[in-house]
Amino acid sequence: MQTDLQTAIVADGVNKTYETQDGERIIALEHINLGISRNEFVTLVGPSGCGKSTLLKMIAYLSLPTRGSIAMNGAALVAPSRNVGMVFQDSVLLPWRNILDNVLLPIEILGYSKSDYRDRAMELLSLVNLDGFEKRMPGELSGGMQQRAAICRALIHDPEVLLMDEPFAALDAMTREELGLELLRIWDEHKKTIVFVTHSIPEAILLADRVVVMTPRPGRIARIIDIDLDRPRTLDMEFTPEFKAYSDEVRGLIFQKPELQS
Ligand code: ADP
Ligand code: MG
Repeated sequence: MQTDLQTAIVADGVNKTYETQDGERIIALEHINLGISRNEFVTLVGPSGCGKSTLLKMIAYLSLPTRGSIAMNGAALVAPSRNVGMVFQDSVLLPWRNILDNVLLPIEILGYSKSDYRDRAMELLSLVNLDGFEKRMPGELSGGMQQRAAICRALIHDPEVLLMDEPFAALDAMTREELGLELLRIWDEHKKTIVFVTHSIPEAILLADRVVVMTPRPGRIARIIDIDLDRPRTLDMEFTPEFKAYSDEVRGLIFQKPELQS
């Protein structure tokens, strides 16, 4: 697989098999070849159980491939990288720490000086419209606001790569769209490589430079689609014929009959 200076992440021939308690083997992912460029916004879309989280965890080195390899910036992963930030579906902010101290948590874990990062934390909170909420406790914030804080927490140590696993799935549709556009602003301003998992087809298309469409059991890449829509993206793009064509293509790949799969 091609690697060059522009390639941030490469998955080369990756397979993942899980063994359950009773010895059953589950092939979660098979033949995954994927190169992600620096500063690219890639979404992974596919039905529940197709291995999206598994792939993301392997990129984060939280799980290891059974076969094949994953490299970041040209070097095979051998440990979790400080170059990565992660956001999950449930942000699980620590309920006993205020928002600012939650955002600064990775700084403590990495052993850096909290005071050096306080201004950055405040800037990030401002970027996601949480000015004035830094001293509040997580329980005082709505789900959408907590998820915004979780994004700040993932960005606080300025990682090059942001891995997001259905980060907006628990939110209502309007908050979800709003946060999607906010994320695009952050991405534009801070130049990150983003790998974003979703099972929402419109969300996958609206955000991405490229959509990786996955099929279930075993999870494979059905197709990688370049999304040639202008930036900045806007919600009304969803009503254009181009958008509908992308959406039909993705839907067709996900819901095709098994015997038609290549
Ligand atoms: P997705 O995120 O696309 O919903 P996952 O990556 O979570 O899919 O899971 C892919 C497949 O692997 C599923 O069939 C799931 O049940 C299985 N799986 C995930 N994690 C484990 C595990 N730790 N042990 C056994 N099977 C697992
Ligand atoms: Mg998942």
